Amino acid sequence: MKHHERYPLVPIARGEGAWLFDTDGKGYLDAVSSWWVNLFGHNQPVIKAAIKDQLDQLEHVMLAGFTHAPVVELSEQLAKLTGLGHAFYASDGASATEIALKMSFHYWRNHGKPTKTNFLSLQNSYHGETLGALAVTDVAIFTDTYAPLMQQAAHMPSPDSRLAEAGESAEAYAARCADDLEAYVAAHHTQLAALIIEPLVQGAAGMAMYPPLYLQRARAICQRYDLHLIADEIAVGFGRTGTMFACEQAAPRVSDVADFICLSKGITGGYLALSAVLTSDHIYAAFYDDQTVKGFLHSHSYTGNPLACRAALATLSLFTAQPVLARNQDTAAQLWQQLAKFDLPLVHRRQRGMITAFDVVTDNPGFARDCYAAALRHGLLLRPIGHTVYWMPPYCLTDADIAHLAKATHAAILESM
Ligand SMILES: *Cc1c(COP(=O)(O)O)cnc(C)c1O
Repeated sequence: MKHHERYPLVPIARGEGAWLFDTDGKGYLDAVSSWWVNLFGHNQPVIKAAIKDQLDQLEHVMLAGFTHAPVVELSEQLAKLTGLGHAFYASDGASATEIALKMSFHYWRNHGKPTKTNFLSLQNSYHGETLGALAVTDVAIFTDTYAPLMQQAAHMPSPDSRLAEAGESAEAYAARCADDLEAYVAAHHTQLAALIIEPLVQGAAGMAMYPPLYLQRARAICQRYDLHLIADEIAVGFGRTGTMFACEQAAPRVSDVADFICLSKGITGGYLALSAVLTSDHIYAAFYDDQTVKGFLHSHSYTGNPLACRAALATLSLFTAQPVLARNQDTAAQLWQQLAKFDLPLVHRRQRGMITAFDVVTDNPGFARDCYAAALRHGLLLRPIGHTVYWMPPYCLTDADIAHLAKATHAAILESM
């Protein structure tokens, strides 16, 4: 809060497409999709209409013993898209992580393997900030203070291509990290329930990208040693990395890579809070029992909220109504061209679908905040992570938006180095 003495809050009155407008009418291009949730722009007519329509029918009913059309339709569509045919709903990403971790542990317990209680994640990973999710998160600023409260989890070397040695290819480095993972798992698998991983892009690590090869190796290792693989696609799901789900770049279907997938953020196009954990028939079956304690127990008041499910269905409908992924390829190519023209001290220019990132070489320790403030002056919402500047915009960018995004980013960096 004290930082706001220097960086006053920006009061936003309305949004339209990729733009936010403050109470004085000044516009800011939302280059981070309001923390990665907005897919098709602000004030999106199809999503808005679906929520209004649902509001006239049913705002909410508990899912214990009840059901409703939006939650059934959404579950069926998500099953078709992923090959994972069972869904558990909550309202936020951290809850999805908690649910997947609990379900994995409980599966092994129901299977007579109660020693499999530990979890693995990658160094610099981010899976949310409730206590269970924080234990598998490895971002010091979020974890250090609360470490005494947390369960221990091991963090494996991150395949982040920036960490490759000079002359080492991204693939060779990812393979080396997979070897390290395999050695650890071979030694500890009797205690391990699951590996949780952000497929292809570790967002909060600073848009760290790695090749699909690592996911393929991780899957094979998990299968060999009886561990679940939890794909945390909370940030990268719904087209963000160029395919509907990032896992599809490692195998034809999500279900070929993951036992669980966690979805949230873009699932409602950035309109309402919703998350889902999808899993397989095989895992579902482990909980199908007359004894209540063998069932999966996780009570959540707003589970399957009809308004949020309708927003999600409307969001999915936009992927079939328009050639979204093909159009995003053009947009991404244009963003890449703009970045190629930047005459600044940049390293590690990288892109995966609609995530474009680079690292700025600067000795200003306050670069991230200064760049954020400079961008605001230029009509741009940019949130650098350390020295990493990234673009993760809504999918509705116009040519004029792209030109503004590039020009304002360039100016903001120049003013804050
Ligand atoms: C944002 C995020 C979460 C947490 O989601 P919340 O809704 O903020 O709790 C978890 N995992 C990843 C990869 C995320 O980007």
